[in-house]
Amino acid sequence: MNQAALTCTNIEVEFDGFKAVNGVDLTLDSGEVHFLIGPNGAGKTTLVDAITGLTRYTGSVTKDGTELRGKKVHHIARKGIGRTFQTATVFEHLTVAQNLDIAAGSGRSPWHLLRQRRHLPDQVVAVMEQIGLDGQAETAAGVLAHGQKQWLEIGMLLVGDADVLLLDEPIAGMGHEERDRTGRLLHDIAATRAVAVVEHDMDFMRAFASRVTVLHAGAVLAAGTVDEVSGDPRVQAVYLGS
Ligand code: ADP
Repeated sequence: MNQAALTCTNIEVEFDGFKAVNGVDLTLDSGEVHFLIGPNGAGKTTLVDAITGLTRYTGSVTKDGTELRGKKVHHIARKGIGRTFQTATVFEHLTVAQNLDIAAGSGRSPWHLLRQRRHLPDQVVAVMEQIGLDGQAETAAGVLAHGQKQWLEIGMLLVGDADVLLLDEPIAGMGHEERDRTGRLLHDIAATRAVAVVEHDMDFMRAFASRVTVLHAGAVLAAGTVDEVSGDPRVQAVYLGS
């Protein structure tokens, strides 16, 4: 598809005179799983905070021609920019289906949902299947396995119609099989959306990245395919200290 879904231009974030993000340009395209990597303190989270409206910045973030700088967090979310955190933030006492239904914005109360469980919207049913939780519709989110909670959180963004997803270390704490399922899920989602992944795991990146941006000291050190960035001597120097 390859259509710019989100464009960041010259993003700068300053904390008491320290530039945590220093002139970053980044484009997220629909159709790609874009990995944001870099050592601790490189500015990855701060950049995502800026895009999602949690941190003030200079520069510009546009989506579908709309400038998002200065907009409130909920406005940015309504523009279709969804984010997950390392620790999944699901409603633990509600079922998988209820979590998705609330995220879909049905406006129905959890109590109403309890009595209407056979009438889930098609979109909720489809996403439940996509995230591999269709057999767990009635399971309380709190008892899901760690990986399943991450998938549910991603599903909540999907039913909320996010078309740019920013995921913070989605495979942290997952075993091999769950990681592979997550990688395949991200590609499935990216068929019609833009997916950006903040990640430390290089094996996961090699297996699933369509494009990689390497941040270092608040700036873009390298960007390109996995092969391009892994062969870049500047990237090797940062990661291997050579
Ligand atoms: P990464 O996600 O790549 O590990 P961060 O974006 O968390 O990096 O941090 C980038 C830099 O900004 C770090 O040096 C960090 O200490 C600093 N930083 C992050 N948030 C704040 C804050 N609220 N106040 C001051 N410094 C911060």
